[in-house]
Amino acid sequence: MNAETPKDLERFKKILEEVRKKIAGDIQHLEGDTLNTSARDASGDLSGYSFHMADMATDNFDREFTLGLASNEQQILNMVDNALQKIKEGTYGICETCKKSISQKRLLAMPHAPLCIKCQEGEEKKKRRT
Ligand SMILES: [Zn+2]
Repeated sequence: MNAETPKDLERFKKILEEVRKKIAGDIQHLEGDTLNTSARDASGDLSGYSFHMADMATDNFDREFTLGLASNEQQILNMVDNALQKIKEGTYGICETCKKSISQKRLLAMPHAPLCIKCQEGEEKKKRRT
């Protein structure tokens, strides 16, 4: 063990599962599945997200999601699935690029984050140029 995984994995697992449901619902909605609309309305939008996260964390979290159209949401969904898989494997919270642990604060802001803040910043710089 050279990298520390988060201690409250169950909590992250629950968050990720909720996010997964939410995004899966949104994707169906965007794809024109009107049957899903009532469930979506009942659960409210992401700003009403009610996990016990720090306020700052939820701001980042919302920002991640409000960026999205269906394709982006599909990407996030893949990342969420990936993160859930990592929880099972015991590698959750470890950066895919540098293999160091991702900070708890970052995981609360973005529980599906596959990269630590440093590696993610590198990725975002690339994206902003496009
Ligand atoms: Zn990293």
